[in-house]
Amino acid sequence: MPIYEYRCTNCGLNFEKLRSMSEVDKDTLCPACQSKAERIPSKFACFSTSETGTSTTVGGNSCSSCAGGSCSTCGL
Ligand SMILES: [Zn+2]
Repeated sequence: MPIYEYRCTNCGLNFEKLRSMSEVDKDTLCPACQSKAERIPSKFACFSTSETGTSTTVGGNSCSSCAGGSCSTCGL
């Protein structure tokens, strides 16, 4: 079962969740605040700022090496 990355729309927490292909587009909840979390497309979300042309992916994380907060190196 593949692992997908999610980001909480409320507190900005990034977390990973094992989900089946049929469940991947369903909403999931943040483990910290129980708010709705959105799926991050891939590990390469670190570079998603170039896709949108903005820095909207920055959301309360403390990673200094990536803007998206889903960096596999820093774990955020
Ligand atoms: Zn949260």
